Amino acid sequence: MPTRRPAAVPVALLVAVAAAALAGVGATTARADTSTVSPSAGLPWADPQHRSPLEQVASTIASHIAGRPVTVRCEGATDWTKLTRERGVNPELELGYVGVTVTTSGGSAPAISTETFTELSPVTCSGLQTFAQAAAKPTKCSPLVTATTVVQTTKQVTTRVKVDLGPDPKRPGKRRTTFRTVTKTVTVPLQVMTSTPGPAVPCYTGGLNDPGRTPTFALASSTKAYIDSYATMAGALETLAHEALHLGGVAGGTTRGGTAFGDPRAEAKAECGGMQWMAWVAEQLGATHDDAVALAQFRVTWVYPSARKNAPLYWSADCVAGGALDIRTDRSQPWPTGLS
Ligand SMILES: [Zn+2]
Repeated sequence: MPTRRPAAVPVALLVAVAAAALAGVGATTARADTSTVSPSAGLPWADPQHRSPLEQVASTIASHIAGRPVTVRCEGATDWTKLTRERGVNPELELGYVGVTVTTSGGSAPAISTETFTELSPVTCSGLQTFAQAAAKPTKCSPLVTATTVVQTTKQVTTRVKVDLGPDPKRPGKRRTTFRTVTKTVTVPLQVMTSTPGPAVPCYTGGLNDPGRTPTFALASSTKAYIDSYATMAGALETLAHEALHLGGVAGGTTRGGTAFGDPRAEAKAECGGMQWMAWVAEQLGATHDDAVALAQFRVTWVYPSARKNAPLYWSADCVAGGALDIRTDRSQPWPTGLS
């Protein structure tokens, strides 16, 4: 029986995007983004042995979160459809799963055996690979910086100058003079407005208390399509962490036969814990710390609240800083980060 999760909780987003308040841009010079999977790597599900570069990196990440050696398997569309249908779940909605075997005997509590690998959907693996391969992460933006500079220009000016023609024969002791018009080149300062891409900053700038009706992004031109792709990227990072927590023993639910097993709050714990791990996951895939924090804060602010209605098993009122589902080891870090 798979411990499963639905596709990314839909984000209700409107088209308009607020212009960013870019105060303090460049105040910190974070280290640059890095590529953690070769840009020349093939499709993440191309290796039948599941040892693609992305699968290896993701397996290392998942093992750390799970606290035991586990592996991540990426599947292409055909295999994914086949595998999920065998499990009785929807290949379109599913982002990843961990298989769990539930054994019931007599009157004792069902025994749970969790597999040591997770299967991830094409959407999830594509998102992870795109993110890992990018030397400049697609979640970073370079807003234009407008500056006034002074450039020196030249122009021709004509002036009248007095010219000495020598002694005046009619007036002893005096000299003759006349005026001539001459042209000369002078330098003139000119103010010029320039707009150039500024330092790369996290695209999501809304933090935890984004007041708008749409997420605040660092580029006023951010489109709904971009915000959707950003949400998909955040979802892929969170899915890896979510499934890794299942692999680490966060398991429970109801079998197809209707038998309840394990922890009834398993999905809420995996989802909440996944959000707390996702910034660390992003950094392992080469993101800068500020961008990793922004991704997690976007997820908790703009995606998670809709789960209350759309995926109630995955939502909990205890998923707040200091709440019962706060598993962070460093609570001095901004919610929902602080795991490493
Ligand atoms: Zn789950």
